[in-house]
Amino acid sequence: MLHPDQARNIILDHTPAGKTILLPLNQIHGLILAQNLTATSDLPLFDNSAMDGYAVRHADLVEASTDHPVTLRNRGFVPAGLHETEQPGPGECYQIATGSEMPPGVDTVVMKESVTVAGTNIQFTRSPRLGDNVRYRGEDIQHGQQILKTGMNLGPTQIAVLAAFGYAEVPVFQPLKVAILSTGSELVNVEDPLAPGKIRDSNSHMFTALVGSEHCAAWRLGIVEDRPDLLEQHLKKAMDADMVLISGGVSVGDHDFVKDTLERLGVEEIFWKVSIKPGKPFFFGKKNETLVFGMPGNPASSFVVFEEFVRPSIRKRMGRTPYVKPLVPAVLTEPVRHRAGRQQYLRAWLDRDCVPAQVRPMASQGSHSLNSLSEANALIVVESNSPEMPAGTVVSVRPVS
Ligand code: AMP
Ligand code: MG
Repeated sequence: MLHPDQARNIILDHTPAGKTILLPLNQIHGLILAQNLTATSDLPLFDNSAMDGYAVRHADLVEASTDHPVTLRNRGFVPAGLHETEQPGPGECYQIATGSEMPPGVDTVVMKESVTVAGTNIQFTRSPRLGDNVRYRGEDIQHGQQILKTGMNLGPTQIAVLAAFGYAEVPVFQPLKVAILSTGSELVNVEDPLAPGKIRDSNSHMFTALVGSEHCAAWRLGIVEDRPDLLEQHLKKAMDADMVLISGGVSVGDHDFVKDTLERLGVEEIFWKVSIKPGKPFFFGKKNETLVFGMPGNPASSFVVFEEFVRPSIRKRMGRTPYVKPLVPAVLTEPVRHRAGRQQYLRAWLDRDCVPAQVRPMASQGSHSLNSLSEANALIVVESNSPEMPAGTVVSVRPVS
């Protein structure tokens, strides 16, 4: 059986490079920039005032002091957005707002709070330094300078920079369309009534959220009974997606029809079964550029497979690095017994506020346990040949959300 690292490498080798697309600013949050971008102008765009105050000629105020106040005549107000073209004469100033373009002929701004106003007469009792409170054109970013690099994650502040330079549309890695399908004749939709022997489909909602956490579009195809004809119908449709996530029906049960159906649809099996616990009967296949992940239906199995194998593949295709969230070391607060055989992923609580970080495995590790899954924020990775580990052992932990 494949070692999980081998399985992940195979998946990544089969994962095509991401496509790029131009998207409007309001659709790029969380996506990855696909091109280096440069400043299309200087920033600030023009010399402007950093204060609400008075724009003056420095030379007029060289002598100003408390003992020798200097009075200048206010020519009028320059609000933000106005392009004033007239130069003040000697002994004149402009009232100016924060962000207003500096009128010609003035070189310094004195803040409003430090002058005395009597009509159009403005009294100054201090000599400012030349250029006080002026923000100069290009002092922040210069025209042609690289502002954002390929591979950057676009958050709110990067989006602000893009807007400032007029990038209404931005080249990014295209969000994937991910089909999500739950198989099982026992499943009912969350909004429908339960019946004896039935359970609610929770996996498709977990996958929708997980796919959303990578900023991809979840294409929910609903629940399919364990019937080859219905499976075929749904899976055929799903092949339009970049990636197909199937929960259930890939094990060795008499009603596990997913693998056969995929084969009939021309999906090439790359592997089936990985030496992991939970999640062993995990299927990975491919048809053209569509990657197909068949995951065992137990919620913890599906979750582990997503975190360890599906997420890295999504990240590669979305241009995001690292593909695999790095493992972190942490000290076990409780012993871990391990039945050798497969690599195990124990749901756990990781406390990174402690130094060194500590990790507590959940009491229940049943692959059906939603309780331990919902309480966990990490997976302890226990290698297949690992001995029993007493409390205090340093283990490798994969933080998950
Ligand atoms: P399977 O992989 O189809 O053999 O299913 C394994 C276990 O997971 C069974 O107990 C199923 O009832 C359960 N299961 C399958 N699909 C889902 C789902 N979508 N949501 C919650 N549990 C599921
Ligand atoms: Mg099933």
